[in-house]
Amino acid sequence: MSPLDEYARKRRFDKTPEPRGKVASRQRRRFVIQKHRASALHYDFRLEADGVLKSWAVPKGPSLDPAAKRLAMEVEDHPVEYGSFEGIIPAGEYGGGTVMLWDTGTYEPETDDVGKALRAGELRFTLHGKKLKGGWVLVHTDSRRWLLIKRKDATASRTVDITTAKPRSVVSRRLLAGIARDAGGDVAKAATGDP
Ligand code: MN
Repeated sequence: MSPLDEYARKRRFDKTPEPRGKVASRQRRRFVIQKHRASALHYDFRLEADGVLKSWAVPKGPSLDPAAKRLAMEVEDHPVEYGSFEGIIPAGEYGGGTVMLWDTGTYEPETDDVGKALRAGELRFTLHGKKLKGGWVLVHTDSRRWLLIKRKDATASRTVDITTAKPRSVVSRRLLAGIARDAGGDVAKAATGDP
C-alpha cells in the first residue's frame, strides 16, 4: 500500500504526460494550485505533507473574501512531482483537458504535524505564493467535503476576484488556451476556462 496507489490506478502513464512519481523522502512545505479545465473547470489545491501532495478540487477557485467559504473536494494524494506539471491530459484519459500552474509557493502550517491536523479536520496555515498570501484555513465538513476559507488579514479582499484578476500561469504567463495550443490540445474547450 502506497498513498499514491489511487493516483496510479486512475492513470495510464503510457497515455498521459502526467508524472508517475513516488513518495518523497525529503519533507518540504510546497503548495501549488493547478487550474484544470477538465469535464468542468476547477482549481486543484495541493499542499505538500507526508511526502505527497494532499489535494482538493475547488470548483469555484480560491476567494480572498473571508466571508466566502469555498467548497474543496478532497481527492487522491498526488506525487510531489505533479507540482511542476503544466500541459494537457489527452481526451479520454482521467482528468482529460488542460492544466495550468496557477500559483506556487510555500506554506507555513500552524502545527508541525500537518497530516495529524488534516486527520483531525482542520488545518490553519499561511501561504507564501505569487498570487495567494496570508492566512487561510481548511475545515472538514463531511465525507470528502472541506471548506477553503481566507482568514481576515491585510491580504484579504472583499472586492478583488483573484481568479479573474490573475488568470495566467505563474510559470509561463500563458492562459489555458495558449497551453492547449502549444501542446496540441482542445483550444476551444480550454478557452472556456479563460476570462
Ligand atoms: Mn483536477
